[in-house]
Amino acid sequence: MAASPSKVIAFPQAVDLVEVAYQALERQGFTRRSGQEDLSRKIHKALLANYPLCAEAATGTGKTFAYLIGGILAQEQNGLPLVVSTATVALQEQIFYRDLPTLAQAGLIAPDSFALSKGRNRYFCVNMAREAVEGIQVTRLQPSLFGGFEDEAQATSFFSRQMWQSWTSGEWNGDRDSWPGLLHEKAWAQVRSERETCAGNACPDFHECPFYRDRLRFSRARILVANHSLVLADLALRAQGRDPLFPYGSYQLLVDEAHHLPEIVRQGGEAAFPVRTAQELLGKLGLWLNACQQAGKSTKTLPDLLEAARKALLPLRTLAEGLLLLQEGDWFRFTHGKLDSNWSTPCRQASGDFQALAEALQDYARKLRYQKDGTVPLLLERAREFLEPIENMATGLVRFAERDPGFLEGARWVESQNGDLRLRYAPLQGKDLLTHWLWSSEIRPILVSATLKSLGTFDAFQEEAGLPPNTQFHTVPPVLPYQNSVLHCPPLDFWPTHPHYPQHLARALQRCLNPEEGTLILFNSRQDMLRTIGLLPLALRERCLIQGQNATHALIEQHRQIIAAGKGSILVGLQSFSEGLDLPGDLCTHVVLTRLPFGVPGTPLEEARKEKIGSEWFRKGVLPTTARALVQMAGRLVRRTTDRGRITCLDARLRESSYGPDLMRGMPDFRLDFSPLPGTDAIL
Ligand code: SF4
Repeated sequence: MAASPSKVIAFPQAVDLVEVAYQALERQGFTRRSGQEDLSRKIHKALLANYPLCAEAATGTGKTFAYLIGGILAQEQNGLPLVVSTATVALQEQIFYRDLPTLAQAGLIAPDSFALSKGRNRYFCVNMAREAVEGIQVTRLQPSLFGGFEDEAQATSFFSRQMWQSWTSGEWNGDRDSWPGLLHEKAWAQVRSERETCAGNACPDFHECPFYRDRLRFSRARILVANHSLVLADLALRAQGRDPLFPYGSYQLLVDEAHHLPEIVRQGGEAAFPVRTAQELLGKLGLWLNACQQAGKSTKTLPDLLEAARKALLPLRTLAEGLLLLQEGDWFRFTHGKLDSNWSTPCRQASGDFQALAEALQDYARKLRYQKDGTVPLLLERAREFLEPIENMATGLVRFAERDPGFLEGARWVESQNGDLRLRYAPLQGKDLLTHWLWSSEIRPILVSATLKSLGTFDAFQEEAGLPPNTQFHTVPPVLPYQNSVLHCPPLDFWPTHPHYPQHLARALQRCLNPEEGTLILFNSRQDMLRTIGLLPLALRERCLIQGQNATHALIEQHRQIIAAGKGSILVGLQSFSEGLDLPGDLCTHVVLTRLPFGVPGTPLEEARKEKIGSEWFRKGVLPTTARALVQMAGRLVRRTTDRGRITCLDARLRESSYGPDLMRGMPDFRLDFSPLPGTDAIL
């Protein structure tokens, strides 16, 4: 953590607070950027008046300091804690380890006023660990009952004990991320904190608990750095009237990388029920209940509930198998997401039975863990195999069966996957859940991103996120000189639908790549990536560092070293490389877009969206998302004011299709070049 200032500035009233804050930062050698101060003022005002603000601030505009300053000044006046949410760990860490300490050094916040929020599963559970370690010494129950785990169990025991010893000696603070060296995942699964088995303040180790210790710290922190998933979990708990994740009555919310929010919340609403896996799991649960009975821990209700769930699954399996037998493909989708009468009754029955079983099982596990004898730890260890999966299955079935009022509209389908039959539910958009969780609360967030607009307007984001009518919008003018770089759209005589697409693409790549420079090639599918790179001549292939060959950070480091040594290097990756990858200067002077970033067509979810939106589906449902993803991809080229280079688009649809001009207009202000690739008029 950075050195602390002598004292925190006392902000005087009736002066320009934003100006005072920027002057304090400038005394630390910071340079104010164009548009940055204006964004701070708009955020400050929106937070004080409590209305939502959407702000697009391109790379280089200094948006992080802009919103942090706006947020801390509003906090100074309204006293509400500030939660800053990001989509990526990289940005979360940048804010926590670099930006907030800088503000502390400038005297704008106290050095101990901010904390980094993590999910419960990243903390050590003292109570479970003690029981696991005690169980290793006193019981011989596991091998006779479950068999076959001897070596793995020994390794797990060893690492669990190691964690316990580090914790009790005070060498380790119980935070997964501060564990020195590699963590043994199975041992961690045995000793981590879990909501299902935590007794909260009824736990004898509550006062030592690292999870609750940090929660207490968060309650004192004035700024909490979190991620979108944690914020959404907190908002969902608040909407349900349950104990929230963040220990605040209310808070101010700053959401960076906000373009991800609707999709993250939509994905969070997805649920699945694997029929055959559920049947197998119920079989194992039966064995476990027998083991509990043999150990004298019998339960009256669970065997009956288990039997009811087993019976309720049989008609679902018969229905799913019958349905898929009549299908040509691997899935069957229910029209408008509505179950027909054949399905509705058995699904409702099974979901009720599964829910009752999941609740009784959790109740039983909680009671079991406070019975002190040698058999309990291993019984509980095995229970962890059932508790979470059965709870998830119950949730999946309730959503599929149209029993959860928050998840009625959506896509519902049955699919055959990896030998299982799965009943699937997926919300069509994030906006219904955001309305339910966020817009119905008193929190009015600031939503910021480098790419909130698509096709030049906020319309698509407004629709995806279900923004309330009083939302204000703001765009910070770009500061990077995109005009110094070129977007090259050469004539090509193949589209990605061509039967020999990889061969054509490989030839086009061969013509446009310069092996002596820093290049980034972006693909949409792993299959296309591997096939196409495999077709390149050896001299080019040898320059390629392909995503998946090594950890991403190791690949990028290798790329940096090669470029620093004055040679050329070609990074090759999928869409995850098109966001957050910062390759300034010589690290990237050429970006190649192999294919426009359309989503996967023909999935049950896309078909359901098409059904819902109708004839406007492509223009309203597909094009805006593609336009935003394209800007992200192109954004890898210019990261600093001195950067310049070229983007080559090897998807002919950008220059030839009816929607191509719309996509081009939505991109940064690059100079356009429609000339042929070097050495040819067109690729044949
Ligand atoms: S309070 Fe919960 S998480 Fe903490 S030690 Fe006890 S059981 Fe584990």
